Amino acid sequence: MLRRTTVVLTSILAMLLSTAQGAQAHGGGGFSPGAPGIGDAYYPLDGNGGYDVRHYDLDIGYTPATDVLTGVATISARATQNLSAFNLDFEGLTIRSLTVDGKAAAYTRNGGELTVTPRHGLRKGRGFTVVVRYDGVPQTIDDPNLGLTGIFHTDDGMIMAGQPDVAATWYPVNDHPKDKASYTIRTTVPEGLEVVSNGALTGTKTRRGLTTWTWDAPEPMASYLVTVNVGQFDITSYRSGGIRYWDAVDPDLPGSSYGPFIKSAFDRHPEINGFLADVFGPYPFRTSGGIVDDMEGLGFALETQTRPIYSKYFFTSADNGAGVVVHELAHQWYGDSLAVGRWQDIWLNEGFATYAEWLWTEHEGQGTPQQIFDASYADFPADHPFWQLKIGDPGPVNLFDYPVYLRGAMTLQVLRNRVGDDAFFRIVRGWAQTRKGDNVTTPEFIAFAERVSRQQLDDLFDTWLFTPGRPEVASPARASADSAAPAAPELRR
Ligand SMILES: [Zn+2]
Repeated sequence: MLRRTTVVLTSILAMLLSTAQGAQAHGGGGFSPGAPGIGDAYYPLDGNGGYDVRHYDLDIGYTPATDVLTGVATISARATQNLSAFNLDFEGLTIRSLTVDGKAAAYTRNGGELTVTPRHGLRKGRGFTVVVRYDGVPQTIDDPNLGLTGIFHTDDGMIMAGQPDVAATWYPVNDHPKDKASYTIRTTVPEGLEVVSNGALTGTKTRRGLTTWTWDAPEPMASYLVTVNVGQFDITSYRSGGIRYWDAVDPDLPGSSYGPFIKSAFDRHPEINGFLADVFGPYPFRTSGGIVDDMEGLGFALETQTRPIYSKYFFTSADNGAGVVVHELAHQWYGDSLAVGRWQDIWLNEGFATYAEWLWTEHEGQGTPQQIFDASYADFPADHPFWQLKIGDPGPVNLFDYPVYLRGAMTLQVLRNRVGDDAFFRIVRGWAQTRKGDNVTTPEFIAFAERVSRQQLDDLFDTWLFTPGRPEVASPARASADSAAPAAPELRR
C-alpha cells in the first residue's frame, strides 16, 4: 500500500526514537512501551506490541445527513509485557476523552499511531480496559493499488469494509489479523434505517427517533473483517443446518438487472455452506449470510466474518453470483477462521478461496479443477508477466494481484496431483480443522502438507510460490482455441 509505505520509514524512525526515549524515561521496574507495530514486514506500523485485545465493545452513532460518526470504543485487553505505554492504530477522527481502567490517560498521536500512557505501568498478564470517546467524518482510503476501501458514504447511509487495514479509520484498534478479538457492535441510526454487521443480531431498540442495533460476534475476528452497514436493507433471517442466517439486500436491487441473480445466489447460502463443509469440515461459525448495498463504484467483495459484502456488479448471471458467494464463504474457513499471521501469506486466503470455486464448478458439472488448471496454464504464455509474481512473497503493492488468486489455486491443484486425492483432501480439511481460529503462515502449511502426505514437498512450493516464471508441469496443457480462457477479474474478491 503506497499510501502507507510513503510515510512508513519516517514514522518508524520517529517511533523507534520515542520508544527508546520512553524506555529511558520510565527507567526501572522493567516497564517499557509496547512496540508501535506487531511485526509485519509489509505493514510495519499495523498492529502493536505488548498487549492482546480480548474484546471490543463499539458503541457507534452514525448520521447519514452529515456523515458524522460518533464512537465509544471499550477495549478489553491483557498486557503481554510490563507496559509503560502502548499504541493503538487510529486514523483521523477526533478523540474527546481516553481512559485506562477508568482513569484519564495521557496520549499523543502521530499519523495513524495513538500512543497511550496510563498513570501507572501495566504489569505483564494484567487485564486492562481502555475507553476512547471520539467523533468525526471517517475518510475513505484511496489506495493507488487497491482503489477505494474503508468507508463508503452511500445515498442512505454507509458501508464500512476493506482490507488490509481500514479498521483504524473508524475505531481505535490493534489493526492486524494477529490480534483477533470478539466484538459487540452497537450502532445508533435514525429510525427507519437498518444496520447490518457481523455475527448475530441480538436486539433493536428505538427511542426518540433513533434506533440502536446490537450485533454480537463472539467468535474471535481479525479487525479488517469487521463491518458496519447503514441504510435501507431488506433483512431476511432463517436457520438452516445449525447455522443462523441474516441476509441483507438493498430494496432498490430486486427490481434491477442484478436482483434475480442476487436472489438465486443468496437462496443457495445453506447449500453452498453445506458443500464447503463436506470438503473442508464443519463451518467455523454460528451465523452466516451476505450483504449487498446498491452502491455505485463499490468494486469488490470481501469476506467480512460470517457475513460477506458483495458489490452488486458480481450478480450478472446465476453462475457468477453463485461463484462469488462460494469464494467469500470459502474464506470463512480460509481467511477468517484461519487468518494470515503475516500479510505476505495472502495466497493462503485467495488461493484456497479460488480453489473452492473450482471445486464448485465441478460440482455444478461445468468442468474439473484440472480442466480449469489446464486452461489457465495455456492462457498465459511462458513470457507473460502473470508468471513473474512470487505469490508466496508478492510485496504489499501486489498483495491482491490476480496471480495470488489463480496461481494460488493452481499450486493447490499441483499439490493434489502430487500427493493424490485422498492425501490432498486430508490436508486441506485437516488444515482448516486443526488450525481453527488461529493465525497461520505458509511455512506452517508446507510443514502440515508434508506431515499429512509423508512427502518432501519443498521443491513444489519453492517452484510455485517463490520462483518467478512458468513452472513445468508433468503433462503440459495444449492451448486450445475454444478453451474458456479465464478473464482477469475487474472486480476484486
Ligand atoms: Zn478472496
